[in-house]
Order: sequence, then structure tokens, then C-alpha cells
Amino acid sequence: MQDFFICPSCGNDDLNKTGIRDGKLYCRACLPFQGQNAPIIKHFPLNLPITLNYELTAEQTRIAEEINKNYVNKTNSLVYAVCGAGKTELVYLAMQTALAKGHQIGFTVPRREVVIELAMRIKSTFPAAKVISVFGDHHDVLTGNIIVLTTHQLFRYKNYFDLLIFDEIDAFPYVGDLVLEAFFKRSVKGVYVLLSATPSQKLLTEFPKQGKVLTLFTRFHNNKIPEPKVSRGFLLFNFVLLLKHLSLFIKSKKPVLIFVPTIRLANFIYKLLKLDYKNGNVVHSKIKDNSKIIDDFKKGKYVYLVTTTVLERGVTIKGLQVIIYNADHPVYDAASLVQISGRVGRKKEESDGEVIFIVTRENKAIKDAISDIKAKNEYLQSMLQKYSS
Ligand SMILES: [Zn+2]
Repeated sequence: MQDFFICPSCGNDDLNKTGIRDGKLYCRACLPFQGQNAPIIKHFPLNLPITLNYELTAEQTRIAEEINKNYVNKTNSLVYAVCGAGKTELVYLAMQTALAKGHQIGFTVPRREVVIELAMRIKSTFPAAKVISVFGDHHDVLTGNIIVLTTHQLFRYKNYFDLLIFDEIDAFPYVGDLVLEAFFKRSVKGVYVLLSATPSQKLLTEFPKQGKVLTLFTRFHNNKIPEPKVSRGFLLFNFVLLLKHLSLFIKSKKPVLIFVPTIRLANFIYKLLKLDYKNGNVVHSKIKDNSKIIDDFKKGKYVYLVTTTVLERGVTIKGLQVIIYNADHPVYDAASLVQISGRVGRKKEESDGEVIFIVTRENKAIKDAISDIKAKNEYLQSMLQKYSS
């Protein structure tokens, strides 16, 4: 029997992730990633203007030019852009250059909802280009000047993209998935650009081996993530800790997000909190009008919101405070703890946000998250000093 195996598609070499068919080993790691492969298309050069209905800031323009320069010089980029909004716009210039060369462009993100929205935005920026989206069951058309796709669909594009942009690199489910990582690398023919608001310290340290790190911080936008405070209890005592922290935040009139690991616990915690604090609500994937509840929370209608990880990213609220209940639950890894902590301190005028981890024990994910936040804050501080001098 064969005792050595490397999958030619995804590079998997774990015998536990193989099966036997007709007496031969085959890979099970990339089994979900099979289907039609995209034919390679020769594109005509397109000289297109960038249609934007607003102007980039001087800083954004500088980064856009750097990305473009790297692209022309066949250098990969990691763009660490703290400014939340306006990350996509940073790559339009490089995309314009690629279109003019008749190059193949790909834009990938982990989440399918984002693919649809992104494809529309890119289409409105380059109306004359063929922009297609590929995700889930949506893969009838596989070719175009610009292909917007989930990372799960990259397997269809082997040695394909002259310019591949990858946004939200730290978002589930890509992080730590070696199969997806292999498909990502395999699909790049030319240059790639990674975009992130929260790259891990590991990536920041290691990336210079593969390309250049570009950072976009403005002098006035000190986005330090508050260092989480760990509050240790056990079983029901954790709930007592939650009540204590919540009541302090409510007294200081700050909106509070309470993250809990499961839907069941979210409902349960909310039921208990409601007895003392009427002015809140709960959101999770099984609740229909989530977005209305979130909007109401943003408008100040509720003082607290109990949530599962559905709100892990994307919510910006002035003065927000965060409590993660049972932060030692396996549903949270270091990356998601950092991501959630990053909800706080998004608005520059309110930098006194707090993050509380309520735990029974301090596990590795918690320790890693805290040291990652510390390292990032130090990095940020050094960048800010560089800028202001
Ligand atoms: Zn494989």
C-alpha cells in the first residue's frame, strides 16, 4: 500500500484525508472543489476611465499609485488599510492598468454575499468591461475581463489571473484553510494584492518575503484596538460578571454589544437580561429582521444587543463597548476575537471603548488574540510616528 501522497490539485499530504478508489489513493480534502474549469480567454486591451462618483483622499491616491506601481513591477502587495471603508477603491488604478494590457483580473472574497455587491460596484466603475460573478451554484459564465468570485471558486482557475485581488483575507472561512490557500496560490499567474483591515501580526511579519506591505493610516485616525480585559468566573458566576459589566456601561450611557457563542445561549442570555434591562434586543442568523434591529441599535433605540458572531464584522457605532461572553468557547479563534475587539474604537472621536472577555479559563486563542492586539497596536504606533514626523 502507498504510504506517501501529495494531491496534485491542492497539495494535501495528509493520509487521513485520502480515500481509496480502484486500488489507488485519491484526495478527499479538495473533493468539494470539483467542477468545470474556466477556459483561458485572450482579452482585447481596454482603455477605460475609472468612473467614481467621489474623489479619493490624498492618502488613498498615494496607496492606489503604490499598488499600481507594484503591479507593473510584478510585485505582490499586502494593503493594511485601517480606514474600514474605501478599500476596494484602492485597487481600481491597478485594475485599469491591467484592463489596458488585456490582462485577466480576478477579485476574490470569502463570503458570497460580498461577491454580489462587489461585482455591482466594480461594474459601475468599469461599465464597458465584462464583469462576472462566480459563487456557489452561480457558475454558468466563467469568463470575463474581471471575475469576482468566492475563494471557494478559485479551484476553477488554474494559473489564470494576471492580477488577483483578495479582500477580507482574515474572514472566515479562508483563514487556516490549507486547501483554499493552495487554490489561491495556484490560480495566480501574475501578481496578487491582499487587502485587510486586520492582518495578523504573523502575516505582517512574513509578507515582506513575498511582496510589499502598504499601510493606509491617516494621522487623525489612530485606530488602536483596545486591549481586552479578561474577567474570569465559572458557570453561572459568568452571568453575574456580565451583569456587573453591563450595568457599568449602561450607567455611563454607552451602547454595548454582547457576543455569545451560540444561538441558544444568545436567546437564553437575552431572556435573563431582559428581566433587569428592558432596553435591549437580540440578533442571530435565525432572526428575520436582524437588519432592522441592528439599525435601531445604531440609532440608539437599544442600549445593548446580544449577538452571535453574525455581527463579527461590519458594525460601526459611536462609543461602542464590547463584551464577549464565554470567550473561551471553541467557536472563537484568535482571529475572530481580534476581529470582534476591533469593533471598538472605530470612530476616532470615541477612543475610550472597552472590550471585556468573560471566561472560565484563559485558553490559547485568548492569549494569542491579546498578544496579537498588543503587537498590532505597537506596529500602528510606529507607523503613526513615521507619518507625523
Ligand atoms: Zn486535493
